[in-house]
Amino acid sequence: MSRSAPAIVILGNGSLATARRIQQLYPNALIHGLVDRVEGADRIYSDFGANLRQLYQQDTPIIALCAAGIVIRTLAPVLLEKGVEPPVLAVAEDASAVVPLLGGLGGVNDLAREIAAGLGVAPAITTSGELRFGTCLLNPPSGYALGDLELGKRFVSDLLAGESVRIEGEAPWLAHAQLLESEQARLAIHVGNSEREPSANELLIYPRTVMLKVGREVSAQTLRDALHEAKLAWQSLACVVADDTRMASSGLRDAVNELGVPLRFVSASEPHTAGVWRALGNGLSVSVADVPLDPQQIGRARGRLAVIGLGPGAAELMVPAVKAELARANDVLGYETYVRMAGPFRADQVLHCTDNREEMQRARHAFELAVQGRSVVVVSSGDPGVFAMAAAVLEVLHESTDPQWHSVDLEILPGVSASLATAAQAGAPLGHDFCVMSLSDNLKPWSIIEKRLDLASQADLALAFYNPISRSRPWQLGVALEIVARHRTPHTPVVLGRDIGRPGQTLRVTTLGELTPDQVDMRTMVIVGSSTTCTFARADGREWVYTPRWYGQKP
Ligand code: SAH
Repeated sequence: MSRSAPAIVILGNGSLATARRIQQLYPNALIHGLVDRVEGADRIYSDFGANLRQLYQQDTPIIALCAAGIVIRTLAPVLLEKGVEPPVLAVAEDASAVVPLLGGLGGVNDLAREIAAGLGVAPAITTSGELRFGTCLLNPPSGYALGDLELGKRFVSDLLAGESVRIEGEAPWLAHAQLLESEQARLAIHVGNSEREPSANELLIYPRTVMLKVGREVSAQTLRDALHEAKLAWQSLACVVADDTRMASSGLRDAVNELGVPLRFVSASEPHTAGVWRALGNGLSVSVADVPLDPQQIGRARGRLAVIGLGPGAAELMVPAVKAELARANDVLGYETYVRMAGPFRADQVLHCTDNREEMQRARHAFELAVQGRSVVVVSSGDPGVFAMAAAVLEVLHESTDPQWHSVDLEILPGVSASLATAAQAGAPLGHDFCVMSLSDNLKPWSIIEKRLDLASQADLALAFYNPISRSRPWQLGVALEIVARHRTPHTPVVLGRDIGRPGQTLRVTTLGELTPDQVDMRTMVIVGSSTTCTFARADGREWVYTPRWYGQKP
């Protein structure tokens, strides 16, 4: 069974050595450490329960280095919601015990055996069937599907009671099981791809040997009906294949998703997909192989390109959809600083770090990777739609006439932009109408910046300046502030947020009269208040800044 990389969750530095030993067994696993308690973890969490439940709900295998009881209590509220669950294990921090807790069908005992072998101890396996047969009959390897879990449980308990069994069909992996086999047995394990009503004493296992090819829009029911007419079990369906001109069809995607199998694409120009195809009518054809198929080897997947915003920097300010996208990425592209901020990454993820100025080039590269069927992420800091990569990606797509680029599953995932992160720390300086501007004249003429500054200041909008200054643009901020000062008093509050949400962040509240360009650098967000923006003292001696929601007369 293919598993995603486990999360190794620890509560203190005392568990770090054992965690690292387990990480050597699973180089892609990340160590999750409690904030302020663990040094050198790959991921930091602040709430043990929330982190553990989230991992569980995202189907991440969990190796928790703490008491089994803590894990059980923590996950208890979410246990009933799940059908299939990830493996969950407790491991003693001194590496003396490995206890599989949950996910018997997700391979928890295999994981326990691997970890225990790595640590040189015996795993605490308690599953009778596994102990007796040396394998979990109800958890066949990839390429095979179990017919019915409930019937299966009864079947296994009959075997445990001492009954013998017949094996019908090809199941090489069952050869290793220590089963009491007999030709005359009442119980039978039947392995085959035909549609079949299970008889009372039968455990059905389906090899995933069947492919369906669709040449038109279909529903899930049409696909099921086609298999039924061909007398093939839907459980034996390994994947659905379609021509790559249908890649963008959401109907096809939904139909195939409903069947829970991968959708693969082939192009008409490529040599025919392996397999002998038989027409079923209705624009469908079927191919049946002798051994289970690996869908990864058939055609290619629809590529995905996600343009994501990391937020200002702190992991807590990254939206969950972005975290999930990073976890599924094959390729990650972006300015090196941001790519590093988005990590850590697994060994199988490819990083393409580029210079900050090569935006269009990067966007094209992202499409080239995505059309190969890969899952590609382009990272921006803050929000990707605010002076960042999303517009560049859309621009190169707009210019492209390549249908393959237009078929990519493109999604933009938002992030907390620097102006909003800075405003939140200061209070609510953007609480009323405001204007967001980049002061960089790299991509627009300076004259237009001056004009907008003048009009926005005149309109009494609060102002948030991105890219306020840089070594190659040293004088612009000074001129910008002079323009603003024509319309605002020197007492107007100004917020300077530097490296907000990153290590060493600073937040400074000053006034327009006191602000000088040397207080600002390219890592600073400048927020200039409107005529109604005001400040007052916080209990801790700092200041709150806010712009009231009303304008003119207080309602
Ligand atoms: N897409 C980004 C903005 C990129 S432009 C976003 O939505 O935040 C880069 C500018 O954003 C910087 O020059 C700086 O003005 C501002 N900026 C980005 N991250 C920041 C942070 N953590 N703290 C303060 N300002 C930041």
